[in-house]
Amino acid sequence: MTTRTKLIAGNWKMNGLKADLAEISGMCARLATLKNSPVETLICPPALLVAEAAGLASLSKLQIGGQDCHMQVKGAHTGDVSAAMLKDAGASHVILGHSERRADHGETDAMVCAKAKAAKAAGLTAIICVGETQNERAQGREYAVVGAQLAGSLSQASQAGDTIIAYEPVWAIGTGLTPSLEDVAQMHNFIRNELARAMGEESQGVRILYGGSVKPGNAESLMSVANVDGALVGGASLKCDDFMAIVEALKL
Ligand code: PEP
Repeated sequence: MTTRTKLIAGNWKMNGLKADLAEISGMCARLATLKNSPVETLICPPALLVAEAAGLASLSKLQIGGQDCHMQVKGAHTGDVSAAMLKDAGASHVILGHSERRADHGETDAMVCAKAKAAKAAGLTAIICVGETQNERAQGREYAVVGAQLAGSLSQASQAGDTIIAYEPVWAIGTGLTPSLEDVAQMHNFIRNELARAMGEESQGVRILYGGSVKPGNAESLMSVANVDGALVGGASLKCDDFMAIVEALKL
């Protein structure tokens, strides 16, 4: 049986100034006190903070990632950040296809797939986000939606070492709402089966994170669900104490 190390990943979104890097330093220091923690950790700050955050975290167990990258290697794309730039700044991962990028910037599955290829070429691990809206769930279409997002976003080249899936029901992001543990189990099982169909044996190594209102109080129960290999955390990743309480909830 494949063992998948749990990953607790934080997405700071468009939050954080230089002064907030003290939270990253705090996380590095707290992680150093956790002996034999079975958990990997990652914070994805705004692009402008990636280099400094990566410098602060370089000797620690905390990894630093980006929140998006362009699909092209370089060129005339004003305001965009390439995968190679993130790698050069010290990032190890990049979040792709977050529902806020899909909604605010019209990102399609094909674009996410192209970005995942660019991330892989630059040596970054892509965290590909999928998840249904409240309407889609109300219509009973959540599996169809997530299945189509997965099929469209994964590339032929996707491998366990460079691909992580984050299931984030859009209605659970930033709302304090979470699906039932049974609903999480069913969706993660569905995603695991879809990955197996797309990638075969290789899929066993792909981690599937749950995201949407993960907090210190619900982390342990959510993370104990089968096929939940970690969490993508928004609001509760901004403060060292909250983020570390989630990490420590898994130090079983
Ligand atoms: C997210 O945006 O990826 C997220 C899960 O946010 P929150 O934890 O705040 O719901």
